[in-house]
Amino acid sequence: MESDERKFFFRHVAQTSDAPIGLEIDHAEGVTFHTKDGKKVIDLISGIAVSQLGHGHPEVVDAVKKQAERHMHVMVYGEFIQRPQSALAARLASLLPKHLDRIYFVNTGTEANEAALKLAKKSTGRHAFIAFQNGYHGDTQGSLSVTGRDVYRKPYEPLLPDVHFFPFNDDRVLDEITTETAAVIMEPIQGEGGVIPADREWLHRLRNRCSDTGTLLIFDEIQSGFGRTGRFFAFEHYDLAPDILTMGKAMGGGMPLGGVAASSNLFEAFMYNPPLSHVTTFGGHPVSCAAAESALRVLLRDQLMDRASDIEALAHEIMHGPGIVELRGRGAMLGLQLCDAETCRRTVRHCLEEHQILLGWTLHSDSIIRLAPPLTIDLDLFRTCLERIRETAALFSDPV
Ligand code: PLP
Repeated sequence: MESDERKFFFRHVAQTSDAPIGLEIDHAEGVTFHTKDGKKVIDLISGIAVSQLGHGHPEVVDAVKKQAERHMHVMVYGEFIQRPQSALAARLASLLPKHLDRIYFVNTGTEANEAALKLAKKSTGRHAFIAFQNGYHGDTQGSLSVTGRDVYRKPYEPLLPDVHFFPFNDDRVLDEITTETAAVIMEPIQGEGGVIPADREWLHRLRNRCSDTGTLLIFDEIQSGFGRTGRFFAFEHYDLAPDILTMGKAMGGGMPLGGVAASSNLFEAFMYNPPLSHVTTFGGHPVSCAAAESALRVLLRDQLMDRASDIEALAHEIMHGPGIVELRGRGAMLGLQLCDAETCRRTVRHCLEEHQILLGWTLHSDSIIRLAPPLTIDLDLFRTCLERIRETAALFSDPV
């Protein structure tokens, strides 16, 4: 019989698609969702790159409980000294390049990009932005303005003026970065665009061009951060650094949290002329920061980032066969390119219904299966899942 919650979900919760996955969650632990009807579903997408430590890590849960008992919201951002926020900011600064010495806390990824765009405008006095085709930066109006997919942008135009899009990994952008450009915003590994890593030499040319023109380089690492690619942030694979770094998703260990890292100099733009130039009520919520601090401690102590390369190696070993075109990405941020959208759709559905494996495609590419398991996944279990996916893709790509 249909539960009340299911009825209410479809009747009263605003829907964003006419085909939600619709799993009715009872509880989640480790890499498994337990549904109300007694199924155990293996999560191979980590709530879209959030659950790096798996679901409900006991140390994170404990940190949440303790902080909730001590205090929850006490004051808007930036006024009171709250231990979890200060401790987290100091820890993050110690792990980032020296010039990224301050963190502005927000609640979500898109808010982090909103803050980064405003920071770039105010600190440079310029208003032109450069962004990339198929880049994804969030759904609020500023972030959407720099998101490189017309189909999502067009219905909401007019958006921010003076945003210019270029193909990713293509030198045509270089001469277009000028002394009029406030910032270039990009993902070092495009996630929703189909898991496409930036080319190393190109990224160095881009970095140099930004430095030469006084243009700020913003890396959106909301999806690729916190160990997902095997390094703390993906830019570390490239031996260069952004001027502004945005983060979110896995940052909060399962709680909502986002952040912008930049230099003290840049952040003066939010302090003066006028003061309180960018404020938020809940940004850096103490319970989220306590969860984040605990999740970061576990990530580093248990050396979970190292597991990303085991995950990548195993996927490369297994993911060949009919229907599979290529495996892309880095660490545990992988995209399995299938031969077409229909094979992809049927593979994702069959894996859920028949094998209780949760997969998904990416927002801008419907022929890619996203593989982004929690870094804690048991490798034997992951191997079994990969074999099921490979068999299923072969089944649907074969017309016989
Ligand atoms: N930037 C990137 C690269 C993302 O992948 C996402 C979400 O998928 C966002 C920004 C938006 O984050 P949020 O959904 O937390 O606003």
